[in-house]
Amino acid sequence: MSRSNHKPSASQGFATRAIHHGYHSADEQGALLPPLHLSSTFTFSSAEQGGAVFAGEQAGHAYSRISNPTLALLEQRIASLEGAEAGLATASGMGAISALLWSLVGPGDEIIADQTLYGCTFEFMHAGLARFGVIITHVDMTDPDALRTAIGARSKVVYFETPANPNMRLIDIAACADIARAAGAVCVVDNTYATPLLTRPLELGADVVLHSATKYLGGHGDLIAGLLAGSAELMQQVRMHGLKDLTGAVMSPFTAHLIMRGLKTLELRMQRHCASAMRIAELLQRHPAVASVAYPGLASHPQHALACRQMSDFGGMIALELHGGMAAGVQFMNALQLIQRAVSLGDAETLIQHPASMTHATYTPQQRAAHGISDGLVRLSVGLETPEDLIADLQQALASLHSLAA
Ligand SMILES: *Cc1c(COP(=O)(O)O)cnc(C)c1O
Repeated sequence: MSRSNHKPSASQGFATRAIHHGYHSADEQGALLPPLHLSSTFTFSSAEQGGAVFAGEQAGHAYSRISNPTLALLEQRIASLEGAEAGLATASGMGAISALLWSLVGPGDEIIADQTLYGCTFEFMHAGLARFGVIITHVDMTDPDALRTAIGARSKVVYFETPANPNMRLIDIAACADIARAAGAVCVVDNTYATPLLTRPLELGADVVLHSATKYLGGHGDLIAGLLAGSAELMQQVRMHGLKDLTGAVMSPFTAHLIMRGLKTLELRMQRHCASAMRIAELLQRHPAVASVAYPGLASHPQHALACRQMSDFGGMIALELHGGMAAGVQFMNALQLIQRAVSLGDAETLIQHPASMTHATYTPQQRAAHGISDGLVRLSVGLETPEDLIADLQQALASLHSLAA
């Protein structure tokens, strides 16, 4: 093999692996960038060889709904960054969630989920899986004892986001993964907000990590994608069942190429997202028009100590509430000039949205109240612009509220 000049990848740093892991230009005529394999199907040297690939007795690609070389490289990279044996690429974050959960549960099985979930995840569980006899139970996992009390023999999956979308609650991954393991349940962590740079759930005992790669991993607002990482056995099960047959939610090779481009700057981008978000969170916290700010880097965050243990930095997402609730939030969002009103997150552009009417409108008002998503909450995804320009925009929009608050 022409690979002797490569150090074992695990000893290399995060950014090095995000740029190089799994690719050897000498294998591809010296091409610096991995080639894009658009082929939907792959030829067999003989009927027997094709049969052996299909039977899983021989490595190789057969059809791009099952596997594809461009996707395989991305899958190796996310596995390396998350510290997993294997990865799996999907068409969207929801594709990852649905392919995974369809693979893990059946009628009578229970998913125990945290109180706060991304709106479509909540809807997939309640309007989707529940229709097929899957039991969905929510517990407040900020208190691991609540999970310990609720978990039982029928519990197959423990599922949470940390930090949670949109209210920035944190869940103690190590504590909840321990409880899940003792009960024989698969512990799934949606790591979209933190990214593997800030938190690596598998190292803390979780079984599966999932991402909306649409967000920070892609990082440029130009794709929809999902990624999973976990044991080779589980990833193969999801690939051959949830992905291949139950959802068909396969990522395009073009998209995989764009995500690999995004991963090259993930560390650099996250450093800027984190630094700017910290400054903005501090500014918001001091501002008289702001009633509350949820950012894990603030000492005022109820789980700041957990954030310091579990996250290497505090991310680019902030939740805030203004005095004057929803009406003030609407006025504030409309007064912004540089910051864009849009859902999604993790882009270069700073984005602001209102979860109750947008990303979390899948909850009823009663459910939002019960699940800790207040109607006045505004979600800010701090982008990569010059921080002073963001601060100036926020300050002028907040100043326009003074008349309202006074
Ligand atoms: C956006 C998002 C998803 C869904 O991902 P898509 O790529 O939009 O399908 C899931 N979880 C979280 C936390 C998200 O922010």
